[in-house]
Amino acid sequence: ATPTSIMAGSGRAAQMGVLFKQSDVLEITHNVTTIVLDKTGTITEGKPKLTDLELDLKDTEELSESDLKAAIKALEQQSEHPLAQAIVSGIDETTKQLSISNFHAHEGRGVSAKITLNNSQHTIRLGNSRLMQDNDITCDTWQERKEALEQQGKTAMLISWNQQAVGIVAVADTVREHAKEAVSALKQRGLKVVMITGDNQRTADAIAKQVGIEHIFAEVLPELKAEHVKKLQAQGELVAMVGDGINDAPALASADVGIAMGTGTDVALETADIALMRADLRSLVDALYVSEKTVRNIR
Ligand code: ADP
Ligand code: MG
Repeated sequence: ATPTSIMAGSGRAAQMGVLFKQSDVLEITHNVTTIVLDKTGTITEGKPKLTDLELDLKDTEELSESDLKAAIKALEQQSEHPLAQAIVSGIDETTKQLSISNFHAHEGRGVSAKITLNNSQHTIRLGNSRLMQDNDITCDTWQERKEALEQQGKTAMLISWNQQAVGIVAVADTVREHAKEAVSALKQRGLKVVMITGDNQRTADAIAKQVGIEHIFAEVLPELKAEHVKKLQAQGELVAMVGDGINDAPALASADVGIAMGTGTDVALETADIALMRADLRSLVDALYVSEKTVRNIR
C-alpha cells in the first residue's frame, strides 16, 4: 500500500467515525470473514435497567421485604458491574441500617457478602444459576419465572438469604438502534456474524433473535472469550471482534482485527486496532468498505 492511499483511506474512515490505529489493519479489515459481537454494550446500549424484583419471604424468619431490598442494594453497591448499577438505581430503600462485610465478586457468576441485621449475621448472594449451584442452593421454585423473564431478553438473577432462595431480580438492556440493520448488511456481505456473552443462553437467544444473529456463544466466562476467537481462527476464519468491556480486552487482542466501541472502557480502546467513535454498528460496514476501497485503489 502506498502511504498516500493509506492516508486517504484513514482520513475518509475518520470522517465516518472509524479510527484505524495502524495502517496494516486498514489493509486487512476487508478480508475479515467472521465478526464476533459482544452482547452487552456492543449489541445493546450497555445501560441495563431494573425491571422486575420479586421476593418470597415465607421461609425466612424476621426478614422484611424492605430489609431484603436494602440488603440487595448494599450488596450491589460494592460491585462495579453494569448489572449492579442497574439494581442499585432501581431500589429506593436506604442501606443505612445495614453493615456489610466479606464482599466477593465471583467472575461470571455474581456477588456475595455477609450482612449484619439486628445483631445477627447472614449471607446474601445474588447472581446466576451457576453461583447458586456452587453453594448448593436450590432454586427450583424460581426456575419457571426465571425462564419467562429470560425469554423476554432480560437478565434474571437469583437472590439467596443464607441457604434459602428468596427472590429474583431482572434487568433489561436496550438493543442499539441500528444493530439489526448493521447485522443484516454484514450478512449480506457474506460475513458470519456471531454474538458472544457471559449472559445465559435464553437471554442471549432472545437478544440475538431481535437483531438477526444465528450464531451464539452464551454463558462464556470472561477469561474464555479469547478462546472462542481462537477456535474460530483455527477453523480458518479471519476474525474481527467488537467489544467494549475490560473483560473483552483479551478477545480483542486475540482477534485479527480488534474493534472497540468508542463509548467503551479505556482498556478496550487501548487494546483495539480500530475505535468506533459513533455508538452505531453500521460503522462496521463503513470500516469494511473503506478498507476495501483503499486496497482496490492501490492495486
Ligand atoms: P457479560 O458478558 O454480560 O459482561 P459477565 O461475565 O460479566 O457477563 O457476567 C455473567 C453473569 O454473571 C451475569 O449475566 C449475571 O448473571 C452474573 N453477574 C455478574 N456480575 C454480577 C453482579 N454484580 N450482580 C449479579 N449478577 C452478576
Ligand atoms: Mg461485557
